[in-house]
Amino acid sequence: MTIKEMDAAYVASTYKRFPLEIASGKGSVVFDENGKKYIDLGSGIAVTSFGIGDDEWKQAVTAQLDLVQHTSNLYYTAPCARLAKMLCERTGMRKVFFSNSGAEANECAIKAARKYAADKHGPERHTIITLKNSFHGRTLTTLAATGQAHYHELFRPLTPGFVHAEANNVMELAALAKTYPTAGILLECVQGEGGVVPLEKDFVSAAAEICREKDILLMVDEVQTGNGRTGEMYAYMHYGVTPDIVSTAKGLAGGLPLGATLLGEKAEHVLGFGDHGSTFGGNPVCCAGAISILSRIDDKLLAGVKEKSRFLFEALTGAPGIRGVTGLGLMIGIQTEKPAGEVVAACMEKGVLCLTAKDRVRLLPALNIPMELLKAAVPAILAACAP
Ligand code: PLP
Repeated sequence: MTIKEMDAAYVASTYKRFPLEIASGKGSVVFDENGKKYIDLGSGIAVTSFGIGDDEWKQAVTAQLDLVQHTSNLYYTAPCARLAKMLCERTGMRKVFFSNSGAEANECAIKAARKYAADKHGPERHTIITLKNSFHGRTLTTLAATGQAHYHELFRPLTPGFVHAEANNVMELAALAKTYPTAGILLECVQGEGGVVPLEKDFVSAAAEICREKDILLMVDEVQTGNGRTGEMYAYMHYGVTPDIVSTAKGLAGGLPLGATLLGEKAEHVLGFGDHGSTFGGNPVCCAGAISILSRIDDKLLAGVKEKSRFLFEALTGAPGIRGVTGLGLMIGIQTEKPAGEVVAACMEKGVLCLTAKDRVRLLPALNIPMELLKAAVPAILAACAP
């Protein structure tokens, strides 16, 4: 059996894989089983922040492996405490709950918002408003939060208490917050799976104002946008708002599973002993990886993200077969005349790995991808898009 046949026979068929086995890699270059080289513009869907096998990250992770790979949350470990301190210092948030994935980070955010509202205003105040076209995860609760009906159909009944507003429609958001006893508003500043669509600044400001007026918690899902991806440490920092809760995962630990829910001043004391938990959450190896990543997301790196973003926007905007380019930082959506899947397949043929998001081609390269690799990848993308 080949690996592809074995996978088809034994792995649950939830993923429509590309016909490509990734065997090895270094930085933003990966190789298939036959040694063919690809420039990686997907970084494992925004996960390998510093690419494959980054030396500093590997050193941090293996050093922790040599000490202890897991204890339990019944004991203290240094990486967990140090990472929480780092996250709080970088954001002004007060406390961190660690989990293993983006969906779990959002689950914790939702639980914290509901508990805050119940403690302060009574249990009937439990509605969570999210946006249409959003994506918040695959658990039944985060599916309920996800504002795209096609994800819901097969799995009803979902967790109750979620309503969805049109993105950038302040009137609708205000009306929902008035109609429903609302505990929280959850939004992605750039809707990633929804097609790499940034929210308007006025809308995010209005959402923050509604939350402030009504003592609703503002929750920002930074699972995809976080940890330097958009050219700021977190995407909300482009918007001049202060969320009450921030959830993040994906690129946080550079390729190891780690979710984090950051609780601000209002939610700081909401979760007490036994209110929430996770066996693996805050695993010391994952936290050591995350410390290595976060400690290198500094002004210089973020300036590089912005510069590479400008380069891609300029190189792609207005090119034949490209209707438009959206996004923020190194989170880029390309509206193509050809079907996005066709463009991605043609790019792969030419040795460039891209992703799709809805009807767009999506680029999520590693934050430290060398400019030369981007310059080498652009002609392949342009050729694939051209009519
Ligand atoms: N939230 C956002 C914005 C995401 O993009 C994703 C994954 O794509 C998730 C949540 C879910 O993350 P995970 O797959 O780690 O559960």
